Amino acid sequence: MSNQHPSEAEVISAQKQEIEHLRTWINDLQSGMYINCVYCGHRYGPKTDVPVSMAEVLKEHVETCPKHPMSKLKADVDRLTAALKEIVQEYEEPSGCVIDGATMGKIAKEALNKD
Ligand SMILES: [Zn+2]
Repeated sequence: MSNQHPSEAEVISAQKQEIEHLRTWINDLQSGMYINCVYCGHRYGPKTDVPVSMAEVLKEHVETCPKHPMSKLKADVDRLTAALKEIVQEYEEPSGCVIDGATMGKIAKEALNKD
């Protein structure tokens, strides 16, 4: 009676093989066709026109796409980080604390309200 279950290592190994198989399949499917950014419609391909994988190219585009939500998030992070740095710099002036609460609030409010 063969009632043996595969070991955890065997299951993981089989899953890794399946993932690799599917990745190869995705690359094959994307290799001969154009792909478009769903936010701005920017078109890439076919594969012969791009030096790296289509998935990689799309990933690079997403980081700079003006219509992708990530662009807004990136701009938000940059703006808020700049405001925080400004507050920290002012606060750490060697001559002592040169920034008051109201000024800090003003810097923070300006950074938060820009959209
Ligand atoms: Zn785009």
